Amino acid sequence: MASDFKREIERASRVVVFTGAGISTESGIPDFRSPGGIWTKMSPINFDDFLRSPEMRREAWRRKFEIDKTLIGAEPNKGHMAVAKLVDTGKVTHVITQNIDNLHQNSGVPAGKVIELHGNGTYAKCLGCGLRHELEEVRVLYERSDEPPACRVCDGILKSATISFGQAMPEEEMRRAEEATLACDLFLAIGSSLQVYPAAGFPIVAKRNGARLIILNREPTELDEIADLVIHDEIGPTLAPLVMLN
Ligand code: NAD
Repeated sequence: MASDFKREIERASRVVVFTGAGISTESGIPDFRSPGGIWTKMSPINFDDFLRSPEMRREAWRRKFEIDKTLIGAEPNKGHMAVAKLVDTGKVTHVITQNIDNLHQNSGVPAGKVIELHGNGTYAKCLGCGLRHELEEVRVLYERSDEPPACRVCDGILKSATISFGQAMPEEEMRRAEEATLACDLFLAIGSSLQVYPAAGFPIVAKRNGARLIILNREPTELDEIADLVIHDEIGPTLAPLVMLN
């Protein structure tokens, strides 16, 4: 298995790494679908409900600050460091991630190479004027009043800078991810159940376009059958020796 993986990397010249919540569980951030994952505790709030109802917006912020207890202070793990090391080799053109935890950037992958399909949960944005707000500022607003937090400039709705269910995917990121996927000759999907679309469509696009596909995930995924190499194992302990981190 290890030699197959190494051979695939050696043969490739343009690699795209695609990651999901599974790469961050070893940093202490629960994924969505594993037992004990976030969805087993809190169902997601749909974007329309968030827009329609001030109560839902307060509830969304309550949940956000609750979830942040696991997000804040989380450090990149061996899996993130291994991806960063692969990026350092110069073969990886982009890291496309469904994660919102900023851990690829924190592990040293240049921000310009990270494409965040579902946004970033380490800050907030005004849905009216787009102004960035830091979470600490939003928390003060949340705690000070019973109203949902609003933009300090235009009084618009403040939302975590993530993409909710029912919210449009970010156009620029989708375009960049598609370009990167069509240009790669090896697509490496790590730690994703490959169930959330349109993100999970990228490995399919890569494969149809002639790229090799490797899937590394603890459990089987829907796309295992079209992959050239499937590794069902833990991410950090599998990747670190492969890129000679230890
Ligand atoms: P998912 O929860 O659907 O799938 C994660 C997969 O990773 C599972 O199949 C699980 O078996 C596997 N996994 C978990 N830990 C692993 C480990 N240590 N080694 C190997 N495999 C492991 O996640 P998804 O496919 O990314 O989709 C869920 C959505 O939730 C994403 O769109 C993302 O935006 C969001 N999310 C993000 C974070 C984060 O930023 N860290 C955390 C939870 C959810």
